[in-house]
Amino acid sequence: MHKPDREQGIAKSALALMTECDVPATPDNFELFYAYASGEAPAVAQVMGNLIAARTPLTAEMLLDLRLRCLSSARAARAMDAVGSGVNEIIGNVLGKLEAAGQQTTDYKNVLTAASGAMGAAAPADLQALVNGLLAATREMEQRAKSLEGELQKSSAQVHELRSKLDNVRKESLTDPLTGIANRKAFDDAVRQAMTRSEGENVTLLLCDIDHFKKFNDSWGHQTGDQVLRLVAHCLAENVKGRDTAARYGGEEFAVLLRGTALEAATRVAEQIRETVETKKLVKKSTGDVLGTITISIGVAQFGPGEGIETVVARADACLYGAKQNGRNLVINQNDSRIARLESSAA
Ligand code: GH3
Ligand code: MG
Ligand code: MG
Repeated sequence: MHKPDREQGIAKSALALMTECDVPATPDNFELFYAYASGEAPAVAQVMGNLIAARTPLTAEMLLDLRLRCLSSARAARAMDAVGSGVNEIIGNVLGKLEAAGQQTTDYKNVLTAASGAMGAAAPADLQALVNGLLAATREMEQRAKSLEGELQKSSAQVHELRSKLDNVRKESLTDPLTGIANRKAFDDAVRQAMTRSEGENVTLLLCDIDHFKKFNDSWGHQTGDQVLRLVAHCLAENVKGRDTAARYGGEEFAVLLRGTALEAATRVAEQIRETVETKKLVKKSTGDVLGTITISIGVAQFGPGEGIETVVARADACLYGAKQNGRNLVINQNDSRIARLESSAA
């Protein structure tokens, strides 16, 4: 199909699917459904395909989560493709030039061989003409070598430029655009890396969730809500260092992976984060209105030997739930008796 026709076809299916799924026609949602309808983003296709097939109602929260999870990697994949074809083109050019240079060297060698044969038989008067011919051929060869060097330098600069583009794409694909901290993919990468830790290294997970964020959004609007997300992200980044990873985990949830840190020390870090957030005074940028303070609750769990991320997330989530149940603005770790009470009262 002609390219614009194909794009129009995709856009139409995306819109039709949005109507069918009862999803508001916002630009953000359109980007997600367009990626799905194009079939060019396997991550989007798989997750959304399952949800649509199961006729799961797509809530605003789920759509946001899908965008966070799927679109940045789809964007990165497209950018990588572009860089990849740029590199291929440069390699093709360089190979072509080297081939031509090889042919020119052979021609030059032939000139020299013919001249050396002719010299033995030449009369002294013809020698001058022979030498002049050789000089001209040599100058020409020198010229070509110079121009080849210039071309190669140009290609090398292009490769450098592409490499730095690739670095930017890589960074972008690991960053949450709203808050500037690590995104879910970067967090998953950090977890995968932590799984190869040496025996005896303690690793802990903090799950943080903003308290009563819905109420905040409802009173002050989404844009101010986004400002809060940036503020919380900033507080997290302020309190972690080195190989630790602070990431936006979902809509208003953040995860921190602490390497070389056992439960007690991790709980202290969590306390510090909680306090940092609590002490920030929030001012609405557009009007200067003081919006009061924001608080967060945090659940803390440590990786047991051989334990996978799902188990640890579930444990940290139970702690987070405990913190919400016990009044919010609170840190609870897996050894805290307040979650035991919750578990037994639920049983
Ligand atoms: P709790 O203290 O129990 O966590 O209450 P809550 O209101 O924070 O929790 P709930 O899960 O009921 O609601 C989360 C709300 O966060 C829903 C949505 O309005 C808001 N939200 C989620 N993601 C985003 C986002 O990316 N931007 C903005 N502005 N709001 C978001
Ligand atoms: Mg939440
Ligand atoms: Mg919340």
